[in-house]
Formats: sequence, C-alpha cells, structure tokens
Amino acid sequence: MLTDPAALLRSVFGFEAFRGVQAQVVERVLAGQPTLAIMPTGAGKSLCYQLPAVALPGCCVVVSPLIALMHDQLRSANALGIRAASLTSVDADWRETQDRLVAGDLDLLYVAPERASGDGFRALLDRARIALFAIDEAHCVSEWGHDFRPDYRLLRPLLDAFPDVPRLALTATADAHTRADILTQLGIPAEGLVISGFDRPNIRYVMQPRDGLKGQLREILAANPGPGIVYAPTRAATEQLAEALGQSGRSTRAYHAGLAPEVRARNQAAFLASEEMVMAATVAFGMGIDKPDVRFVVHAGLPKSIESYYQESGRAGRDGDPATAILLWGAEDFARARQRIGEVEPARQAGERTRIMALGALVETAGCRRAVLLRHFGEDPPPFCGNCDNCLAPPASIDATLTAQKLLSA
Ligand code: ADP
Ligand code: MG
Repeated sequence: MLTDPAALLRSVFGFEAFRGVQAQVVERVLAGQPTLAIMPTGAGKSLCYQLPAVALPGCCVVVSPLIALMHDQLRSANALGIRAASLTSVDADWRETQDRLVAGDLDLLYVAPERASGDGFRALLDRARIALFAIDEAHCVSEWGHDFRPDYRLLRPLLDAFPDVPRLALTATADAHTRADILTQLGIPAEGLVISGFDRPNIRYVMQPRDGLKGQLREILAANPGPGIVYAPTRAATEQLAEALGQSGRSTRAYHAGLAPEVRARNQAAFLASEEMVMAATVAFGMGIDKPDVRFVVHAGLPKSIESYYQESGRAGRDGDPATAILLWGAEDFARARQRIGEVEPARQAGERTRIMALGALVETAGCRRAVLLRHFGEDPPPFCGNCDNCLAPPASIDATLTAQKLLSA
C-alpha cells in the first residue's frame, strides 16, 4: 500500500503543502499516467519525481543534462534520507550503484541521456525494478527548444522498452512548438500535459536601451542593495564588470565556465552566503543554484530567447519578496543575432529568427512587459500588471531608430 503523498511531503521533504500543480503531477505519476509537466524555474519540479520515487516500489531513473545539476540534486536528496546515486563519468562507485539498483536499494538513479540510451544501461534496468522514468529539462529533446541535445532523441527506445513504467517529462520551457514536440518525441499523449502558471508577480520588469553600461549598472547597484546577478554576454565581460563594479565598493565576483573549478566553487559559495554580493556571470551561472533572496537580475545584453530570459530573470525573488529584472539592450545585439542566424544550419534558421523577433517585440513594446511574456507561454495576462516599467510609466512614443524588426529584416 502506498504511503499518503501529503504525509510523505511533510515527513520526507518537510513541506506543509504542495505548491501549484505539484499535487496534480504527483497524482498522475502515482496513477501511472504519462505526463509532461511545464512549470517555471523554482516551481519545484524535482519534487514531482522525488516524492513518487520514495512512494513507489522500485527505482526512479532520472535523465538530466548536466553532471553539476545531478550532483546538486544528489546532495539534497541524500540529505533528506532519499537513497539516490548517479552513474556519470566522474562517479567512482559504479559497481556499488549497479548492485544497489539491482538489489532494490535505490529510490533515485541519475544518468545523462547518452548513458541512458546505451544498450548496457537497458540490460542493467532489465535486472532491476523500475518505478518511473523522469526526463528533466525535457525541452532538450526538441530542436525548437533553446538547448537542443541530440542525445535526448535516443531516449525513446529505452522508454518504449519498458511499456509498463510511467514517464514524466519536466521543463520550464512552454512555447507551443516545443511543447508539442516534446509530447511527440517522448510518446506522451496530449492529455498528459500539465501547465502551471508562469506569472511571477513580485518581479518588476524593466527594459532599457544600453547607454553607458557601467554607469547604468552603478545606478542599478546603488538602488538595489541586496544580492544580484549581472549576466554579461562574454567571459571577458564578466571579469571586466566584476572589476569595474567592485571599485565602487560593492562586493563583486565573476563566474564563467572558463574559471578554474575551485575558483568557480569559491565564488558561488560566497554568493550563496552573501546578503549583498553582485555576481557578474555568463549564463553558465544559475542552473541548479537555489538562492531564494536574489533581489535583482540584470541582463547587460540580449538573452538568447524569451525562454532563456524568463528562466534567467526568474532567479530573482524566489522568496516572493519584491525583486527586479532589468534588461539593457542595444541595436548591435540584434545585428549580432541576425549575423548568427546566417551561420546556423538552414533547417534551424526559421526557429532562430522567430526567437529573435519575439525578443524584439518584448523589448520594444509600449505595452505591458508581463503580458508579452505570459502570452508567449500561452497564458492570459492580467489587463494591467502594475509592476513593469511600461505599466508604471507609460512611454509617450517609441524611438523608431531602435526598431529591432527593421534591423532584422535589413
Ligand atoms: P525547479 O526544478 O522547478 O526549478 P526545484 O525542484 O529546484 O525547482 O525546487 C525549487 C525550490 O522549491 C527548492 O528549494 C525546493 O526545495 C522548493 N520546494 C519544492 N516544492 C516545495 C513545496 N511544496 N513547498 C515549499 N518549497 C518547495
Ligand atoms: Mg529543476
């Protein structure tokens, strides 16, 4: 007999109640129904498979795209007393993990997609009892998604080889194309779609043309005393900004994938512990970082897509207190994006163009920013959000020289 989910939520995870659609997703999974859960960053997707993993007999296999992400999750699962392990290139205890899996001594097993799709892995699963396949960051399966990972395409045969094991795909990416593609690629019927609300009412959206970046950033830092992230487009830019902003007296560090692992770890730990630090980072910073009191996120240049923007800006204000997301953009960002479109393979150009056009519409609208974001995710916005720059101070007119659409088609 299954333990009551609400009781497990309290006793294992220490939470009083499910949030948003968590209850609905968990219920479907426990009933063995294939599901695609679309929930914003920070909404608590992990719980949707971790709780069933504890409740159901057998092991939940979690496919996840990044070793760092897996190991973060392992640490927190183990801290809760959940029996979790991973099979990655950096794990030394493969033999022990495989034995534990076969012996029924694991609740959660994390693997990368390229591992999961191999024959050896399927043979291993044949010897074990599998409760659930959870495919995290499931947008990676779609060419429409912003992080296409071809290895995700190879998962389908594994899933189909275990027809009695339910599958749960999870992502924060919700545009209609990607959503439909995930369902098809992973063999989940449309009725298995569960979408949660995307609005983050405590985040104030502000978008401005770049006009003397360092000066603008100094003003932003002065107005926002709490911890913040400044996303910069290049590694070199993160270091220059950290240096320049540090001179104004605010504690500031840089983070990018080119730094030595111990420097990265040290800077990240300092940021997590700080109540005022500014991290100048590339988008490598943030995946899997759970700091609830980030008060502001600045984009010093155009993000890759609305999905990326939503995910990155969504790292602000997870505690529900007021937070600000500021996007500083320039015409040259669009020019560069257009140049990049010319360099990708023809089959993907239309998708890239659509993504950039959507960003153009977001930064140029004279209307509500939140409305543009929410409509992008298929959600009906409130008529007036009252918490974006345009709602707070409606612009008199738009500067036509900055028209992104024009730049794109030029
Ligand atoms: P996502 O993968 O959707 O971005 P996570 O699974 O990393 O989100 O969860 C984000 C944070 O929310 C974590 O700190 C997690 O412990 C917390 N959380 C998840 N579910 C609940 C809940 N029901 N009540 C309170 N906090 C929760
Ligand atoms: Mg997650």
